[in-house]
Amino acid sequence: MTARLAILGGTPAFADRLPFVRPAVPPRDDVFARLAPSYDAGMLTNGALVRELEERAAARLGVAHVVAVSSCTTGLMLVLRVLDHLGELDPAAPVLLPSFTFSASAHAVSWNARACRFAECDPGSFQLDVDDAKRRTDGIGAVLATHVFGAPCGAEAVEDLGAAAGVPVVFDAAHAFGARRGERAVGTFGVAEVFSLTPTKPLAAGEGGLVATQRDDVAAALRIGRDYANPGNYDTRFVGLNGRMSEIHAAVALCSLDRFDEHLERRRAIAARYRDALADVPGVAAQEIDPDDRSTFKDLTITVEPGTFGVDRDTFVRALAAEGIDTRLYFDPPAHRQQSHAVDATDLPVTDEVASRVVSLPIYPSLRDEHVDTISAVVAEVHRQSSAIRA
Ligand SMILES: *Cc1c(COP(=O)(O)O)cnc(C)c1O
Repeated sequence: MTARLAILGGTPAFADRLPFVRPAVPPRDDVFARLAPSYDAGMLTNGALVRELEERAAARLGVAHVVAVSSCTTGLMLVLRVLDHLGELDPAAPVLLPSFTFSASAHAVSWNARACRFAECDPGSFQLDVDDAKRRTDGIGAVLATHVFGAPCGAEAVEDLGAAAGVPVVFDAAHAFGARRGERAVGTFGVAEVFSLTPTKPLAAGEGGLVATQRDDVAAALRIGRDYANPGNYDTRFVGLNGRMSEIHAAVALCSLDRFDEHLERRRAIAARYRDALADVPGVAAQEIDPDDRSTFKDLTITVEPGTFGVDRDTFVRALAAEGIDTRLYFDPPAHRQQSHAVDATDLPVTDEVASRVVSLPIYPSLRDEHVDTISAVVAEVHRQSSAIRA
C-alpha cells in the first residue's frame, strides 16, 4: 500500500466501513431448538438450561462450581457481597484494584458501598502492577484484579499479594473465558473469577455472567444471592438482588459454546497475524503476553508512542477512522479518571500514560485475513506519511 491515506484526501481502504466488533452468534434454529423444552414448559428463567450451562462451564474450566448470573457486573457485586456475608471482607474496607480496567470492576466495589483503592498497571502487559499494588495494601479488605483483554494477569503473584495482606482475591475475568495461565485455566484462581457473556466478549449469550469458584460455601451463597438472598422461605439472609440468568440467555450461551473453540482459534490466528505485521512498525507495540499463556484476544490492543510513531494516538485514530476502520480506546479514560470514581483522586502516572497511548483494533472470528493485512498496512502507512499528516 503506497496510496495516499484518506486523511490526506485519498480513497478510504474500507469504503463500507469495517465494524469494531461483530459477535459470533450461533445459528438461530439451533438456539430455538435448544430453548424449546424450557419454553414449552413455561420455564423461562433459572431452569434446566441454566443448570446445563453451569455444569458444562464447570467441567470445561475444571472448577467445582459455576454459578450463572445476569451479567458479569452482577456477579462481581454479588461475590463481594457474599464475602462480606461470610465474614471474610471487613465492613467498609476498601478494595484494591487496577485503574486500567473496565468501569464495571470499580462500579462493583462502589455498589457495595466500599472505596476503590486504585493501583498502577504494567506499561507492557497492561496488567495490575503487583509491586505497586504491594505499597497500597494498608487497610484493604480484598483484591480485585482483571485479566486485561483476555490475557491472564500474573494470577499467582496477585494471590500471594492477597495472602500477604490476609484478604481474599477475586478476579474480573470478563474477557477471559477460554484463557489459560500456563497449564491452568483462568477460572481456577482466587476465591472466585467472574466471566461476562455480553456480545462484545468472546463467548456471547446476549447478556450474562458466570462465576467460577472452588468453594462450596461461596457457591451456595451466590445461588441464593442471585435470588434476592432468599433461601426459599422468603426470610432473606442478606441483601441480595435479582441476578438470575434466563433460560433464553442460557440457550444462546450453550449454542455459542458448541463452536467456541473454533472461534477462539480464529481469534488467536488473527492476533498472530496482526502481531507479525505490526512488529516492524516503529512506535507501535502489542500487549505483552507471557509466552506460556493463552489469551482469548477479546481485544487486540496496541500502544502508539508518538515520538517514534510520528503522530499521537488521537491523530492515529482519526487516520484509521478516515479509512473506515472502527477502533476503541480501551481503557481511556481509566477508572480513576472517570467522573464516577475520580473522587479518590489517585495519582497514577503510569496508568495515565498507558491510557493516552492505547488503541484497540477490530478482532472477531469473521474478520478476514485480507482485512487484517489491510489494517496493518494502513498502520504502517500512517507512520510513513506521519510528517505529511502532522503538516
Ligand atoms: C464487560 C466487562 C465487565 C462487565 O460485564 P457485563 O457482563 O457487561 O456486566 C466487567 N469487567 C470488564 C473488565 C469488562 O470488560
